[in-house]
This record gives sequence, structure tokens and C-alpha cells, in this order.
Amino acid sequence: MKKIQMVDLINQYKHIKPAIDKGFEEVLNTAAFINGPQVKAFSQNLEKYLDVKHVIPCANGTEALQIALMALDLKPGDEVITTDFTFAATVEVISLLKLNSVLVDVDYETFTISPEAIRKAITPKTKAIIPVHLFGQCANMEEIMNIAKEHNLYVIEDNAQAIGSEYIFKDGTRKKSGTIGTIGTTSFFPSKNLGCYGDGGAIFTENDELAYRIRGIVNHGMYKRYYHDEVGVNSRLDSLQAVVLDAKLPLLDSYNEKRRRAADFYDKAFSNHPNLIIPLRMEKYSTHVFHQYTLKVINSDRNALQQYLSEREIPAMIYYPVPLRKQKAYDTGKYKDEDFSNTDRLINEVISLPMHTELEDDQLKYITENVLGFFK
Ligand SMILES: *Cc1c(COP(=O)(O)O)cnc(C)c1O
Repeated sequence: MKKIQMVDLINQYKHIKPAIDKGFEEVLNTAAFINGPQVKAFSQNLEKYLDVKHVIPCANGTEALQIALMALDLKPGDEVITTDFTFAATVEVISLLKLNSVLVDVDYETFTISPEAIRKAITPKTKAIIPVHLFGQCANMEEIMNIAKEHNLYVIEDNAQAIGSEYIFKDGTRKKSGTIGTIGTTSFFPSKNLGCYGDGGAIFTENDELAYRIRGIVNHGMYKRYYHDEVGVNSRLDSLQAVVLDAKLPLLDSYNEKRRRAADFYDKAFSNHPNLIIPLRMEKYSTHVFHQYTLKVINSDRNALQQYLSEREIPAMIYYPVPLRKQKAYDTGKYKDEDFSNTDRLINEVISLPMHTELEDDQLKYITENVLGFFK
């Protein structure tokens, strides 16, 4: 059995080596490191894949969120509602722009932002909602879009963990995650479902004017060469990263299928266990691309399970151990614990098992046997 890893990018690379190496060589031989034709080709291919009008590449998923907020012309003091249970990047950019973040609870079953909690948090100052499609499954977008429409709010989808998943509306319409809200953002961090070999990110929108603004903002607020109409940033995807992404994009659906297959294996082993809750698939409205396979451990010691697995060379991670509202940087003192009962349960119960495209049956068997062995 191969050594088990949380994410296995080395063995994945072995399958796509010829395409990547050839693409790298082209970039090296032309020295078009920045804004090379590879970047444009990838952006256009991603537009086609997502069926979205504009994909604007940028430097990483955090800046994608920041640039999205900048393009919406929010003013200091405006409120942006997002989830208490996510990676810090989501709330970081809100604070960085001197906007006020309003963190709310998630649904216990899905890990994603609770529409009910959003409703309760809306004030006259609320301008935007940032749902996060956490662990590979869409937040309840139909409900969130309805709330946004009622209150005239922007919606930025943080799609860093769910690229390739599909949202299914009540009327049967399907849309790729990240293409439903006002703006969608993603990260191409190496371990994401579509990852490059460094940093990268992208912003999606159907709106032509927003796309124009975003293209200016990522390039120093420059709409005409050396004329700077506003304060922008420098945020680019480089040509080498575009090579990797363009090689992987045609494989994304099969990659996500491999993740689902591993998830099926896990589900089967754990589904009736008294101490384990398998990740609920909201098949009515979302496909699941399993960025993470996250179990809930109940009436048992989650940390001891992690330790037990670690001793058997099985990596397992706690995403996320501390709610954002309790992080020093984001603790405003205004939040009440009773409003966050789901997040506060989840931080003690969740454990994410190895999940990637290269998991083999003997590894999955070893992992599941040992997880079950812990409870014996
Ligand atoms: C990874 C991630 C980001 C940030 O992406 P980077 O490319 O690392 O900046 C933002 N939000 C979520 C939910 C993520 O998982």
C-alpha cells in the first residue's frame, strides 16, 4: 500500500506529466511568463466549462474575494454577511476593505450558511452576502438569491471548494456553482479540486459592466494603459499556472467523480455507525464534489480519533477548529453564543479524512477499517 496522504498531487501529476511538461516548455521557450496566450486560453476554456460570460483570472482566491468586493463599490461601514464556519480568507477581505463583517451560523447538516440566520442578520446597512460552498457542496442558493432580491443585496459566491459542482433550482434549471450570484470567486491553490502548482484564482460574472471593472481593478485600476482611474491591485494568474490549469480542466469532471467514488466507499463503511454522521448530500439542489469528506463524530472523542489515526499513519484534519467570531482578529465582542449553536457543535465534531483523486481501494479499506477500529 502506498503511503496515505491528505492530498496526493505527486501521483496525480504522473498521469498528466506530458501535457504539463510540454506546456511549461512552451512558456519557457517564449518567456511569456505574464499574460501569455496560455492565460487567455484557459480563461476562455473555463468560461465554456462554467457556461459563464466572464472569467477574470487573478493571483489567488483571497484576492478574488477582495476584488469582487471592490468592484461592488461598497463603502466603509457597509455590512457583509458571511458564515462563521469557513476559512478565514472570506472574512479577512471584508475587514481589509473596512467593511463590517457580520458572521452568522451554518446549518448543522450541510455546514453551509443558514438562510434563516442570514434573514435575522439583515439591517439597513447590509449590502452583500458571501455564501461559501463549503467542502464541495453548494449553499442553499435559491433561498439566498430570494433573500438577496427581497433586500436588494449583492451575492458573492465563495466557490474555492466547490468548482465543478452544480446547483439544481426547483424548476430543474442547473447552473455551475459560482455562476449564480452577482459574482463568483475561486481559488486554484494546489489542493483545491482544480489546483495549479502555486497560487492562482479567478472571478466569474455574467455582468459586462462588472467584468470591465474587475479587469481594471486587477490591473492597477488601469482601463487605458498608464491611466489609473481608481486605486486597484496587481493580481495576475501567471502563464505557467495557466498551463497546469488548462491541462487539468478537461479532467475536472473525472477528478470530481473519483472523489465521489472515494466518498461512496467511506459512506458505505460509516453510514450506520452510532458515533459517526456521514456528510449529507443535498441531492435535491446540489451535486457534491467532495473537496473534503467530513464526518461528524458524536458521543465520542473526536481528537482521540484523530490521534489514533495519526498513530496508524492516516492523516486527518480538523476543518475548522475555531469559529471565525472567536478568532482574535475578528472577535468584535458583539456575537452571542446562542446564535451559533451549530458552528459551536461542529468545531468539536468534524474530522476530514484523506480525499483526493489518487486514493486506491487498499488505502480506503485501511482508512475505514481503522476509523471503525477506534470505536471497538
Ligand atoms: C482556499 C480558500 C480561499 C482562499 O484561497 P487562496 O487561493 O488560498 O487565497 C478562500 N475561501 C475558501 C473557502 C477557501 O477554501
